[in-house]
Amino acid sequence: MKREGTEGACRSCGDRSLEWSRIRNLDVDDLAFVIAALRTEYIRAQFWSIEPNQWAKNYGIRKGRIALLDGTAVFVRKRVGPPKDAFDGRRVPWPHKTPEKMNPYFYAQHATATCCRTCIETWYGIAPEQSLSNQAITFFAALINQFVIERFPELPDYPQSVPQIRDSLQIQLQSP
Ligand SMILES: [Zn+2]
Repeated sequence: MKREGTEGACRSCGDRSLEWSRIRNLDVDDLAFVIAALRTEYIRAQFWSIEPNQWAKNYGIRKGRIALLDGTAVFVRKRVGPPKDAFDGRRVPWPHKTPEKMNPYFYAQHATATCCRTCIETWYGIAPEQSLSNQAITFFAALINQFVIERFPELPDYPQSVPQIRDSLQIQLQSP
């Protein structure tokens, strides 16, 4: 699929060959299929393959894997549960712009098209003027958790302390 100019923007996916109805079942037992479909979109595929930055890893280490995964549904409900508003598409930071703001959930949102109500409408067919259903929140949390499990494989189960990243040179070096 051809993509251009996706950087920093949420855009609709032009690929009509995907099995939309299967994706839109929001079936937590069919995550692998949905993930394979997401990876056909360039920007999503990037997030499934790039190495998360140290800020995001540290966030996960400080929270611990169990609490991180447990907190996903609450995160989804708070961040994209309400209907679309004027800030839609601008809430999730990008690692190359504000690397220090990244956490595992934000990487996962870009990877799973749960970054905003516009992308959720495009991919999952959910009307943006409606609050997300419990089924949708459960599904998106499972999808995000699958990303976290795959892309943050070395998190400790329980919280550990990590020194702050405060050196500006380090910030430059870790920006992709
Ligand atoms: Zn989006």
